[in-house]
Amino acid sequence: MRFSDAARPELADPRERRTRRQAAEDARARQAAATGELPDWEPLRESGAAIRERTLRELGTHLETLETAVAEEGGRVHWARDANEARRIITGLLPADADAALVRSDVTDELGLEGAEPGPHTKAAVVGAGFLVAETGTLVVTGRGEGLSIPGTLVVVAGIEDIVPDWTDLEVLLQLLARAGAGLPLHPAVATRTGEFELVLVDNGRTKVLADPVGREALRCVHCSACSDVCPVFERTGPRPYGPGRAGPIGAVLTPQVRGVEVSLGASLPFASTLCGACADVCPVKIDIPGLLVHLRGRVVDARRRRPVPNPELLLMRGLAWSMGDERRYEQTVVRRARWARLLVRDGRIRRLPGLLGKWTDARDLPAPPRRSFRAWWRRRG
Ligand code: SF4
Repeated sequence: MRFSDAARPELADPRERRTRRQAAEDARARQAAATGELPDWEPLRESGAAIRERTLRELGTHLETLETAVAEEGGRVHWARDANEARRIITGLLPADADAALVRSDVTDELGLEGAEPGPHTKAAVVGAGFLVAETGTLVVTGRGEGLSIPGTLVVVAGIEDIVPDWTDLEVLLQLLARAGAGLPLHPAVATRTGEFELVLVDNGRTKVLADPVGREALRCVHCSACSDVCPVFERTGPRPYGPGRAGPIGAVLTPQVRGVEVSLGASLPFASTLCGACADVCPVKIDIPGLLVHLRGRVVDARRRRPVPNPELLLMRGLAWSMGDERRYEQTVVRRARWARLLVRDGRIRRLPGLLGKWTDARDLPAPPRRSFRAWWRRRG
């Protein structure tokens, strides 16, 4: 489904919109205070961006280091190409006679995993990783670490990019995450566990994203959600219209790359933005989300051009290009179109255009076209 269609019911609910606006305003105030009080916030962001960029560049090496470290500490690493394979692996690792608790993360949501929160009743748990420290094979989660100390099976799920080479790099990223995301100087609790778990590393389209020299920047994300809190589109629609996977501005650049720009959601998400740039201003690892959206819009247009049957928008653009390619032709087109458009004028305005052009008047009206074009007026004046 296209983003705009999926967003319609959300936009029609004023109570939900009010709640979302209030939550976003509160989050923005907290984050602005936490980042504004730090004199070296900008250098810290630069360091975070550089760490994430370097990690992605050397991802293969860090993943091998992680696999070795986890194995040395008594754990096992499983590789999942896609969401189906990940779900199959996770189900196979869990004991058949116990319901597994779930500690959610973006990647567990991406896989559509469901489960109750861990309690004293818990024998097996699936935990979404915050970070994985490659040098020691350590799982890091922000929070009290529910589920990490269970005596039974612990399955840790992470995207292949959720990796940090070492503890020094982790220290920088945790500071950024706390201030930009939670609006706190530090997370009140950070829990760790080394080895002795089953680690499922999920690709699910990420290597495809890495292969795009421009789009790969999106994988720097440290999941702080600050970009969603400042996004005027997300504030009005909430997360649902972004589909399964990430929501908000980062979802608008990741989902089209993972699912392809040929499907309707992937083709519409790069346009679900005003390109105001607020997301890039707050992103703690300096992802140029507006730049990525423009890049992806280009990919959507290229994909449409390759279709055997052009869509109405492309036909319209080709017609415009043809008429604008010649001065006389352009002038005649303007005169004819203005004559035709005047038939639609009611009380001095055009309130509804027919067909595809109706999208323009869905949200605005147009002034009546003048009887004489600028060029004709200029010629007479000369
Ligand atoms: S892209 Fe968004 S969620 Fe990811 S790090 Fe940047 S601001 Fe945070």
